Amino acid sequence: MAMTDPRPGISSLSTDELTAWFAARGEPAYRARQVLTAMWATSATRATELTTLPRALAAEMDRAFRWSTVDDETIVASDAGQTEKALHRLSDGATIESVLMHYPATAGRRARHTLCISSQAGCAVGCPFCATGELGFTRDLETAEILDQVRSANRRLRAGERITNVVFMGMGEPLLNLDRVLETVAALNDPARLGLGARHITVSTSGVVPGIRRLTALGPQFTLAISIHAARDALRDVLVPLNRRWPVAEVVDAARDHARATGRRVSYEVTMIGGVNDTEADAEALADLLRGDLAHVNLIPMNPVAHTPWRASPMPVIERFAAHIRAAGIPVTIRRNRGVEIGAACGQLAAERAGGPPAPTVARRRERLEAASARALRGERSEEPVPAGVEA
Ligand code: SAH
Ligand code: SF4
Repeated sequence: MAMTDPRPGISSLSTDELTAWFAARGEPAYRARQVLTAMWATSATRATELTTLPRALAAEMDRAFRWSTVDDETIVASDAGQTEKALHRLSDGATIESVLMHYPATAGRRARHTLCISSQAGCAVGCPFCATGELGFTRDLETAEILDQVRSANRRLRAGERITNVVFMGMGEPLLNLDRVLETVAALNDPARLGLGARHITVSTSGVVPGIRRLTALGPQFTLAISIHAARDALRDVLVPLNRRWPVAEVVDAARDHARATGRRVSYEVTMIGGVNDTEADAEALADLLRGDLAHVNLIPMNPVAHTPWRASPMPVIERFAAHIRAAGIPVTIRRNRGVEIGAACGQLAAERAGGPPAPTVARRRERLEAASARALRGERSEEPVPAGVEA
C-alpha cells in the first residue's frame, strides 16, 4: 500500500481554523475567504497556483496541507454525457467513487447537478446485491475526503454552474461514519463554501437505528432516505444483513419519529430484484408498514452486479408494485437507472478494479444466496450472525 500523506486535507479546516492559521502568520482574515473561494470556485490544484496569495505564504500552505485528498483516477461518462462516474484514489491507495448526474432545466425548474458521494471506502453491512457490500469494509473516510469529492465534481462543471444536490448514496454506510458526515454537511451548508441548503442534501441509510435517533435529536439537517428493500424481516435479514441487529419495525419507528420531529418526508428506497422482493405480498407488506406515514417510496430497478444470481424486476412488475403502494395513499416514484452501462450503482467500478473472486467462489455464493432467499420467501428467519463492525 502507498505511503499515507501526513498532511491534513485543507477541506477539513473550518473557516475559523483557516482564519486562525493565517492570523498566526500575521495575515488578515480575508485570506481565509480568498482561499475558500479558490478551493470551491476555481480549478487550482495547489495553493501556489493562486495569484491572490503571496508566493511564500502559498508555498507554506502547500507544505502544511493537501489541496485535495482525492485523486481523480478515472472519469467515465455515459447517458450522452449526462452521467459521469469518478473513481478517486486516496493517499493510502484506497479507492472510492462518486457519480455526477446532470438533469437539464425543464419548464419551471432549473437545471440540477446532483452528486452521489461515498462516506466510507467499502462497507461492513454487506448487502448481497450491492457491489460495495461485495468489497467489504476498508475504512471510514476523513471529512476532507468526503468534501473533496464534491469539490472535484464542482470543478468539472461549466463556468456558472454548481453542484445543486448532494446525496450520500455512494460507497459506505453514512450513519456508521456519522461525525464526519455531520461535519461534511455543515461545511456544505457554509455560505463561504458551497452554500448548499439542507433541503438539497440526502443521507441514505440501511437502517442504523441509533444513528437515525441521533439525527432526529439534532433537528432537520437534510432529507433522510431509508434503504428498506423489504418490509418482511425474513427477507430483509438476507437483503440488508443489518436487519438482524435492527429489525425493520424498529427502523421504521425511528424514521417515523424523524418525520414527525422534523416535519420532513422520509424517502424509502427499494432496489427491485426480480422474483425476490417484488411480489404482491411484498408490496402489501410495505404498504401496510408505511400507511399514514409522511413517506415517499422510490422503486429502483436493480443494477446488475457481478457475483449475484439476481437481475432487475421487469418494468410491468415494478409498475404493479407501485400501484399497490399508491393505492395505500403513499406517493411512489419509479427511478430510471442512471449510468447502468458504466456501472453507476455504488461501488461497481471499484469492484471491477479489485477483480472478482474466482469462479467456484462466485458459484458457491450464488447457491447460498438462492437458498437464503428461498428460505426467506418461505418466511424463515436467517440464522446468520449480525455483520461484524456495525455497532454504531
Ligand atoms: N449504505 C447506504 C448508502 C449507500 S447505498 C444505504 O444502503 O442506504 C445507496 C443506495 O444504492 C441504497 O439504497 C442501495 O440499496 C442502492 N444500491 C446498492 N446496490 C444497488 C444495485 N445493484 N442496484 C440498485 N441499487 C443499488
Ligand atoms: Fe453498504 Fe448500502 Fe451497499 Fe448495503 S447497500 S452494502 S449498506 S453501501
